Amino acid sequence: MIYRQLGRTGIKVGAVALGCEGFTGKTEQQAREMMDFAINNGINFIDIYASDPKVRSAIGTSLRGRRDGFVIQGHIGSAWKNGQYERTRDVAEAKASFEDLLNRLETDHIEVGMIHYSDEEADYHRIFEGEFIEYVKSLKESGTIGCIGLSSHNPIIARKAVETGLVDVLMFSVNPCYDMQPPNEDVEQLWADEVYERSFHNLDPDREILYELCAREGVGIDVMKVFAGGDLLKADLSMFGKALTPVQAMDYALSRPAVAAVMAGCKTVDEIRQALAWCDASDAEKDYAGVLSNVEKCTWSGHCMYCGHCAPCPKGLTVANVNKFLNLALAQGEVPETVREHYRLLPHHASECIACGACEKRCPFGVPVREKMKQASRLFGL
Ligand code: SF4
Ligand code: SF4
Repeated sequence: MIYRQLGRTGIKVGAVALGCEGFTGKTEQQAREMMDFAINNGINFIDIYASDPKVRSAIGTSLRGRRDGFVIQGHIGSAWKNGQYERTRDVAEAKASFEDLLNRLETDHIEVGMIHYSDEEADYHRIFEGEFIEYVKSLKESGTIGCIGLSSHNPIIARKAVETGLVDVLMFSVNPCYDMQPPNEDVEQLWADEVYERSFHNLDPDREILYELCAREGVGIDVMKVFAGGDLLKADLSMFGKALTPVQAMDYALSRPAVAAVMAGCKTVDEIRQALAWCDASDAEKDYAGVLSNVEKCTWSGHCMYCGHCAPCPKGLTVANVNKFLNLALAQGEVPETVREHYRLLPHHASECIACGACEKRCPFGVPVREKMKQASRLFGL
């Protein structure tokens, strides 16, 4: 397992983590087997958005006796009413549901208290300008939650939430299909059939701004919907006309700035094994560039996708990392100290580029790497 910092929280999480949907309909024994396999393979992080008492109890019993060292992200505002899931902003309902979650998990605290998803402007205001956020803050003050998170599919809302300074962790839908699409209050639009008929050009700027903002502010992103509901894994359903493998889709998400972990919604031990394959995959197996480039309806030009396809460089430069720091600094309009320091720690710097152009021949996205290296060298003075 590869462990990463979950932003500024100080928590270290495995890059491959669990969603909770796979525990639906599982017996205690089956849930225990899944958790055994996950923990034995280094997984230490789970997201629990489910309000279904059976799912919560199955996870709780499967974690019995090994709660310490396990990082739980539990949702606040996901309720169970009349035998069904419902999102709520009613504080009394949210409180009852959250207390139920703690009871069923057999714990008195969780590490990340995740405000259950917000995609609409009106809902954002309901949360952050009312009693709801006061309740969430009180949970943090009492130590019942270690930090505050928010889940969203809308980069505009997610950005507003991050800009409050209250949110340390963002759960966001990250995959190359959604990354090309403009923000929308209606999450259904992300996977509507019409979307796949349109043409797209480059990353949606609002998503890019969000990732870079999170990286700058130390807000850790954990990823949902990494496979776009499975569409990305099937050539006939993917907007790229080619299938990504699970490892490629995970690597795409894990290469975005600020992303710490992918919450894989595995339903079986075998699916957990498939997600874990990312940890030992070779660079060739992780390479998503071939699927995303040369697609008629989707063009990415001049824009670094951090895919690493341009390697090797005769001077040992890791172009993707240089570009990542360059983009972070450019987005900020100045070079933040943290970015400067991270850049300085790279084993090789842009100033070492001899402009041989070998990288540009290999870049599937037409990035003018030589120009970028010059720019980075000027900006960082190194
Ligand atoms: S410069 Fe091109 S090949 Fe290199 S990481 Fe960026 S997109 Fe990939
Ligand atoms: S142009 Fe610069 S960054 Fe690209 S391969 Fe040559 S030396 Fe490396």
